[in-house]
Amino acid sequence: MLAVRFWHFAGRCRGTLASLARLVRLYSLQTAKTVASQCRTFTSQLSEQQQEIRDMARNFSKEQLKPQAGSLDRKARFPFDPIKKLTSLGLMGACVDSESGGLGLDYLSLAVAVEELSRGCASTGMILSIHNFLYANLVNERGTPEQKELFLKEFTQGSIGCFSLSEPDAGSDVASIKTTARKDGDHWVLNGKKSWVTSAIEGKATAVFATFDPELRHKGLACFLVPLDAEGVFRGNKEPLIGVRAATACDLTLQDVRVPAAWLLGGAGEGFRIAMAQLDQGRIGIAAHAVGIAQAALDTAINYAKERVAFGKNLTRLPSVKDRLTDMTILVETARLLTYRAATDVSTKNSSMAKYVAGKNAAAVADHCVQILGGRGLSTDYSAERHFRDARGTQIYGGVTDIQKRLVGHFLLKEHDAL
Ligand SMILES: Cc1cc2nc3c(=O)[nH]c(=O)nc-3n(C[C@H](O)[C@H](O)[C@H](O)COP(=O)(O)OP(=O)(O)OC[C@H]3O[C@@H](n4cnc5c(N)ncnc54)[C@H](O)[C@@H]3O)c2cc1C
Repeated sequence: MLAVRFWHFAGRCRGTLASLARLVRLYSLQTAKTVASQCRTFTSQLSEQQQEIRDMARNFSKEQLKPQAGSLDRKARFPFDPIKKLTSLGLMGACVDSESGGLGLDYLSLAVAVEELSRGCASTGMILSIHNFLYANLVNERGTPEQKELFLKEFTQGSIGCFSLSEPDAGSDVASIKTTARKDGDHWVLNGKKSWVTSAIEGKATAVFATFDPELRHKGLACFLVPLDAEGVFRGNKEPLIGVRAATACDLTLQDVRVPAAWLLGGAGEGFRIAMAQLDQGRIGIAAHAVGIAQAALDTAINYAKERVAFGKNLTRLPSVKDRLTDMTILVETARLLTYRAATDVSTKNSSMAKYVAGKNAAAVADHCVQILGGRGLSTDYSAERHFRDARGTQIYGGVTDIQKRLVGHFLLKEHDAL
């Protein structure tokens, strides 16, 4: 099947032929993964397969994403064509089992791909990250055969999936969700409003978290799979974002949306546990996305510093600029190591720590980048200001930095029986 995708795509994209050929070989080597296989001893060394994925994503990003990232950002235009090409490469079902049309890769491979894609275009990296880590992996790992048939197969072939957890009055405080789920015979009826749903404008379905008993707080939550064209689902306007502007996020209003009982994911009452487990994965994706943005800012700064002359020498010869570039490198590498570790050894503590560090470091690296470019750092003719805007969001979506710190502290003390 991938060979068909390969030839179909190759005609349109000759520059990445070598990468594609490597991917075809990789795919043939790939066996179905299990969730358990995600947990193994951490080594910062990528396997041969993971390096293949990294190189393929890196080439694609350099050739296909980077040249148009600035224009997509300025026009706030969704990257339809890049997402189509990434579908051809199999990356919209990166960790999904082959029976459902995916590549069956591990989380680290996906994280490395998200990093490389975000390096070329932060918006495209974010879209791919949320689709995979928060939607496709969720259905792949927890869906029934019927759910996979309806809500997974076509989502590896071009349809985009979303994750609807946040609400106007419930962001960090997930247990305060007000969207209701009422049982009515062999259906559930959903009512409420969701906020900030990434890709809902272009998407085909979403996981929706709702409460069947608000008094039970987090124990009253359930997760439903809902087609975005279902009767009673209304998409709001695209949010006007300052970063990742080519991605989209909007409100979703649910008015008496009737969902067959068979589309309940997991049991009623399991919604909170499902959301938290999925966010552990989602945070690996956002951490990887942040590392990619930080690397792009470092690339920009080095390239500029090598060319720019001040006081008769290149900026790279000025101690303060050299120090900044050194600090940037350390920040990028630290975040990358924590992200790879979180993707290899999945736990709330590891993914929160990775997201906390990667988000903060990306913002710091992008700030240094703006400084190194001087006045040009503030100009929309250069990419530094875009990296600066893109980096900021990584401390907010997927769970704010402040919450990540609290989670790390909580699990640290739990490990030491000190709660
Ligand atoms: C571009 C974008 C895309 C998004 N995509 C999605 C998506 O696809 N699906 C989805 O469900 N959501 C999505 N979100 C929503 C995002 O996850 C939330 O914005 C985020 O979780 C924070 O929630 P909030 O905005 O309600 O902020 P609040 O929860 O109101 O927090 C505001 C601030 O209060 C402080 N704070 C709050 N609680 C605590 C606490 N317990 N401890 C310490 N400090 C605290 C923090 O400083 C925090 O930054 C997206 C958001 C953006 C901007």
